[in-house]
Amino acid sequence: MADSRWFQQYEVFRPNGAILETSKDVLGVIAQIRQCEERDHWPRSFHIRNCSMYCEYRDLCVAEYVTGKPNKEMRETDFRIDDGVREGR
Ligand code: SF4
Repeated sequence: MADSRWFQQYEVFRPNGAILETSKDVLGVIAQIRQCEERDHWPRSFHIRNCSMYCEYRDLCVAEYVTGKPNKEMRETDFRIDDGVREGR
């Protein structure tokens, strides 16, 4: 659908506390991303409530978890690595 009704915008009133908490949450996520970049380690979630183990990265995730290092062959064979060119980086 590409008509103007699809892009309608409405004012949504939110309590100040909710706006503040959402802002803090977003800042927290940004801080976590920066921390992962600095450490060059992106924690996986093996907790049963967070990981269904049905995602498309499962085999790679488990292989790297068991060996404790990146699996270059699986990454290059099974995935197309995003180099950021598409976004102009
Ligand atoms: S299997 Fe997928 S969802 Fe689970 S931790 Fe690994 S990458 Fe994340």
